[in-house]
Amino acid sequence: MTRRGFVSAAGAAATAGQGHASEHKHDHSHQAVPSDLTLRVKALESLLVEKGLVDRAALDALVDTYEHKVGPRNGARVVARAWTDPAYKRRLLIDPTPAIAELGYGGQQGEYMVVVENTPQVHNVVVCTLCSCYPWPVLGLPPVWYKSAPYRSRAVIDPRGVLREFGLDLPADVEVRVWDSTAEIRYLVLPERPAATEKFSEDQLAALVTRDAMIGVAKVMLPPDGANA
Ligand code: FE
Repeated sequence: MTRRGFVSAAGAAATAGQGHASEHKHDHSHQAVPSDLTLRVKALESLLVEKGLVDRAALDALVDTYEHKVGPRNGARVVARAWTDPAYKRRLLIDPTPAIAELGYGGQQGEYMVVVENTPQVHNVVVCTLCSCYPWPVLGLPPVWYKSAPYRSRAVIDPRGVLREFGLDLPADVEVRVWDSTAEIRYLVLPERPAATEKFSEDQLAALVTRDAMIGVAKVMLPPDGANA
């Protein structure tokens, strides 16, 4: 089936109960056709809703949760706490899942967490070579590039090259460790705390921590305008 055929079929399935003319021919251009994946998801959603297997409001609430309520800000809180509280950092590295739960984060796709610490000698990068496994409770939903075939394959074959493309050129004497996520184990990188942040509060530190730094494709940097974050 062609892409456009797929759109027509999905649209017809979604609106069959509402008397929409399914014979309406889509031989004219309405708009740019979304990606195959988007179309597949939309078609599936339409069918599930139509058959009464899924409640659209419940689906919206779920998506809203992971887009707006759960996200990298959670992970940033974990990182900032670890930077400011050595006892917490120890707990976080030894037994991450309960340590993360101390801050109220846990659940689906984060049932078994592993935290790997970046140091001046070791840089950690996280990938899921098989699909897109990702620690939802602390990072939210994975970015598109994380799910892309080039990142998934090249992160293990040429991690330094991939990091360079993200703008991170690591010295040759820094060891790069690549962690392959699975359905069971999800990783969070504990980035290095930037220099000259001794006076920063936990909140100020959390504001510096990016999603990419917690995946391991970036370092945590001070804003370019100086240390007054
Ligand atoms: Fe996966």
